[in-house]
This record gives sequence, structure tokens and C-alpha cells, in this order.
Amino acid sequence: MTPTPVQFRSSHGDPAAWMPADIDSYEVLADIAQLPPLFDRYMQAFETATKHLGACAACRDGRPCTVGGPVHDRFARLQDEYRGQQTQDRG
Ligand SMILES: [Zn+2]
Repeated sequence: MTPTPVQFRSSHGDPAAWMPADIDSYEVLADIAQLPPLFDRYMQAFETATKHLGACAACRDGRPCTVGGPVHDRFARLQDEYRGQQTQDRG
């Protein structure tokens, strides 16, 4: 049976430690579950990126590490998507 996004998160632990493949799986589940979609994922990415920055001197220094690079890219991508959606909603 397909787990819900919440079940996925509880079985995979802290999203800050997820591999990119885990994040992709979560995205798929979020789409299936029709989560308040983009906003939830955007906030999650924000939380993950912020947590990572707090723990990683290299990323704070503007030198994204191998873990932080994809995390920050994902946040930037979702931020763009989210802003794009807001623009569309205003029509
Ligand atoms: Zn880092």
C-alpha cells in the first residue's frame, strides 16, 4: 500500500537528512495525496534548507557542500514555482 506523505515522513525521519531520491519519492506521494501542494513542499524545503545552513559552515560561506547543494537547489526551484503559481492565481 502506498504510504501517505505523513507516513513517509515518519518512516524516513528528519527531512534534513533525506537523500534526493527520498525527496523525489515524497514529491510523488504529495502529488498523489493532493497535498496543499506547492506551499507545503515549499515550506518543507525552506525548513530543510534552513536547518542545513544552521549546521553547515561551508554552505553558510556560499560554498554549497554535496549534501547542501541539492537542498538549496530544491528550495530555489520550489520558491520559483511557488511565486510563479501566485502570479498565475492573480490571473
Ligand atoms: Zn552544506
